[in-house]
Amino acid sequence: MKKVGFFRSIHLKFVLIYVLLILVAMQIIGVYFVDGLEDKLKTNFENSLRQQVNILSFSIEEEMVKERDKNSTTVEEDINEILKDKKAGDIQEIRVIDSGGKIIGTSKSDDDGIVGKRTTDKIIKISLQGTEQKDVKVVPKTGKRIWILSSPIKSKGETIGAIYLEADIETVFEQIKEINKIFATGTAIALGITAILGILLAQTITRPMSDMRRQALAMAKGNFSRKVKVYGYDEIGQLAITFNNLTKKLQDAQSSTEGERRKLSSVLSYMTDGVIATDRKGRIILINEQAAMMLNVSRETVISQEIVPLLGLEDQYSFEDLLEETESVILDNSTSAKDLILRANFSVIQRETGFVNGLITVLHDITEQEKIEEERREFVANVSHELRTPLTTMRSYLEALSEGAWRDENIAPNFLKVTQKETERMIRLVNDLLQLSKLDSKDYKITKSWVDFTEFFHHIIDRFEMSKDQNVFFVRELPKKSIFVEIDEDKITQIIDNIISNALKYSPEGGKIRFRVRELDHEIEVSIKDQGMGIPKENVVKVFERFYRVDRARSRKLGGTGLGLAIAKEMVTAHNGKIWAESEEGKGTAIFFSLPYDPEQEDEWS
Ligand code: ADP
Repeated sequence: MKKVGFFRSIHLKFVLIYVLLILVAMQIIGVYFVDGLEDKLKTNFENSLRQQVNILSFSIEEEMVKERDKNSTTVEEDINEILKDKKAGDIQEIRVIDSGGKIIGTSKSDDDGIVGKRTTDKIIKISLQGTEQKDVKVVPKTGKRIWILSSPIKSKGETIGAIYLEADIETVFEQIKEINKIFATGTAIALGITAILGILLAQTITRPMSDMRRQALAMAKGNFSRKVKVYGYDEIGQLAITFNNLTKKLQDAQSSTEGERRKLSSVLSYMTDGVIATDRKGRIILINEQAAMMLNVSRETVISQEIVPLLGLEDQYSFEDLLEETESVILDNSTSAKDLILRANFSVIQRETGFVNGLITVLHDITEQEKIEEERREFVANVSHELRTPLTTMRSYLEALSEGAWRDENIAPNFLKVTQKETERMIRLVNDLLQLSKLDSKDYKITKSWVDFTEFFHHIIDRFEMSKDQNVFFVRELPKKSIFVEIDEDKITQIIDNIISNALKYSPEGGKIRFRVRELDHEIEVSIKDQGMGIPKENVVKVFERFYRVDRARSRKLGGTGLGLAIAKEMVTAHNGKIWAESEEGKGTAIFFSLPYDPEQEDEWS
């Protein structure tokens, strides 16, 4: 937030209010006070002069009505005599005018020239009518104000003349000016003190307020560590206490929200399932890393996109359909590089009123599950197929026998031989299946013992060499020395048996079977190579799959079950070894397998 400027601050406003209040008060007091004082001073001034004029008027009247003879002094002389002493104080000049408007005396000694002259003064003329006249006029030369009074002199109810008086009223105005000056100074001092007091007083209000403002700004930035200082227990103090309480509560609320948020986000990020949340219009508002990975999108770009096209369901569902979907939906997101099958479950976020707030979609990777399910289905189909073929053969032969073929000495033994062969194959098949199921079971264990592999391998080859009925040559490329390995003899015997019987089955007349054992760094590599028909390149890897056969009919004819190499693979894996095949069509096949081997261990044996 912007910093509050001094001219906008509440501080200045407080001071201004104080100063204005004092100013208004002083002005109102000043106007009434000065006005009253001015009136009073003026009235006093006028009254004192009027009093003097009255006294003067009395003596002048006497002089004017006095009987005079030739020897006595003239009126002018007597009046001058009276006026002589009257030029005192504020009085500047006193003139006496007779009823004809002629000036018959003046108090000014150097103004004698005007005596005997007729006055033209309007005020005097009016006052000669019998009413007192007063005025204030400014002397043009000095700019000073003088007060003029023209009072009629009356004798027996008749105006016999007038007294004209000029007095210096400037002193009164000066006094008022002086008082005004004192008042203005007083006002200025009062304003100054008020301003200082205002600043100090305003501070007591504004300081806690600006503290709270600062605190609120800090809170907005997430800083809850500060506290507002409590200066007193008035309303502002209580506000500060409440503010501090509020801060504490807000901090608690925020930390618990933050905690919940962190918990939620760690739950979401450590979940193996993908989670997507949308708003009520189906736009994505939250997606965890897992979901983004499953849908192969980036979390940032996908926010506020529509969920339906993101899941690739726009052809089958609208967002409203998803809100009502109670069953899970299977999404096949497989690419050429990777299989990916997802199960999507939807749950609606709803308020108590039923208002839909959004949708939560949970994506579960069921690729593995689907694969296992598929394999299981395939396996059951394969087993049923494998069993049905010999059973059908047997049934037809047995039917033929029961329908009378048993009497035919030429056919019957043949038929029986076939059923016997098929039965044996079925037994082999069932045995193989049992073995596989044992290998699949979790608690399957192998019992290892230290065996001299060279000798052990020779024995097996010897056994085949003695029992073989084909014209096939065995070539042994085995080390001269003993190689001690820790193996389960029975299981490895079975592996080698399977491989050798395959090699014999597919070897041509006069073909060679080469047996080799190579000693490598940490393993021994066993290979059995024939010169048979070979396996097409694209099928070389598949021969280790259950029931896989390059040529089904031929394998079946040779008594194969399609499980031999699959069993071999399981067993080699149980020994922590590897099995693989190399083959060239028409030239031969080599089956390799490796077993862990530690040359140092072997030294201990020798
Ligand atoms: P089967 O009982 O059919 O021999 P296996 O699991 O032992 O089952 O072998 C799987 C398939 O691999 C065989 O059906 C065959 O097509 C092929 N195969 C195995 N060994 C050889 C080999 N030495 N030469 C050619 N093909 C082979």
